[in-house]
Amino acid sequence: MSTTELLEAARALGQSLAPEAGRVEREGVERATLDRLAAAGLYGLTGPAWAGGGDVPASVYRKVAEWLSGADGNTWLVWFQHHPVVKMLAASPNTDLAGRYLPGLCAGTLQAGVAFSHLRNPSPSVTATAEGDRWRFSGTQPWCTGWGLIDLVLVGAATDEEVLFALVPAEDGPAVRCAGELSLAAMAGTRTVALALDGLVVEPADLVLRAPRRDWAVADHARSANVQPSVFGIALAALSSLRQTGAVVAEPLGEALHDVRARAYRLADEEPTGPGAGVDERLETAAEAILLGVEVTSALVTSLGGKAMVLSHPAQRWAREAMFHLVFAQTGALRSATLAAVAGARG
Ligand SMILES: Cc1cc2nc3c(=O)[nH]c(=O)nc-3n(C[C@H](O)[C@H](O)[C@H](O)COP(=O)(O)OP(=O)(O)OC[C@H]3O[C@@H](n4cnc5c(N)ncnc54)[C@H](O)[C@@H]3O)c2cc1C
Repeated sequence: MSTTELLEAARALGQSLAPEAGRVEREGVERATLDRLAAAGLYGLTGPAWAGGGDVPASVYRKVAEWLSGADGNTWLVWFQHHPVVKMLAASPNTDLAGRYLPGLCAGTLQAGVAFSHLRNPSPSVTATAEGDRWRFSGTQPWCTGWGLIDLVLVGAATDEEVLFALVPAEDGPAVRCAGELSLAAMAGTRTVALALDGLVVEPADLVLRAPRRDWAVADHARSANVQPSVFGIALAALSSLRQTGAVVAEPLGEALHDVRARAYRLADEEPTGPGAGVDERLETAAEAILLGVEVTSALVTSLGGKAMVLSHPAQRWAREAMFHLVFAQTGALRSATLAAVAGARG
């Protein structure tokens, strides 16, 4: 499929998802919808060509992510969590594992999610213990999106010195189980759960990555400082509505949004010149973009008056989804940068 065809399919899917997004949040994302995204080639977008992936430029991935997140945030989030797995597996030294799973992951016949955000905390909540050449993972990962919808989950665990990532079946069993579906203020239809691991046996064949904790943290810190396209997808969807109901405020907000979006994507495309290079500028830009998303969606709610509060109106959902981005993929540094930007606006 050509890039033009991919983009056309993604845009058409976005248009068909948008009217159902409120219902999807209340009733839950369905696998059949995710399978439609897969059939349109959207699960393998970033995957390598040898595995049937599209290997598309970042700009194409961003367009698709913006359209999907603006159309239906819940479906977008479940779809989004698949891509780090494809990316990490494609770069894995475990080529047998990549050969086994990447073709299915790129086709979307296998769908995956992640469970490793706890590794960003100074005290990771899932630990790995060596047992011969195998490992046992134990603890609770507080967030895992898509449970019950996905086939595989990339689980992260830490030792004192290292981080380990394993790709395992996403099924309830004695060693991996849902420790409770979370009742959420936004993205409530994404089947996001806490995941309890109780001595999960990880064979070397299941390991995607094993890396020194410090090296991974530095790379993750730099990656997480980039703005997620979904921040813009939601804000652009709200802005387009705001043009009808609050044209005067839509104009300056639109200019600010396009300006920060251009800067954010330019920074994301720049090769870092060394570990940590440019991270402060990325963090400031991310904070600016996230807070602008809150501002745009708030302006839309205000411009609409009381009808914005009706659950069937997208305005309140976009406002809650913009709020979700205040914490999603948050590192300690991004939390500080966002709070500093709020304080700066008051000073
Ligand atoms: C709806 C939803 C779905 C999600 N789905 C997934 C998913 O599928 N998979 C997944 O892995 N994650 C998922 N997340 C987690 C998400 O990416 C973020 O990691 C999470 O929201 C950060 O908030 P926290 O309070 O849980 O993390 P915390 O770890 O408590 O805090 C966030 C950051 O603050 C810093 N910090 C916290 N405590 C300290 C301290 N004592 N000292 C210094 N720094 C500190 C850490 O660097 C940390 O990264 C999801 C989150 C939401 C809201």
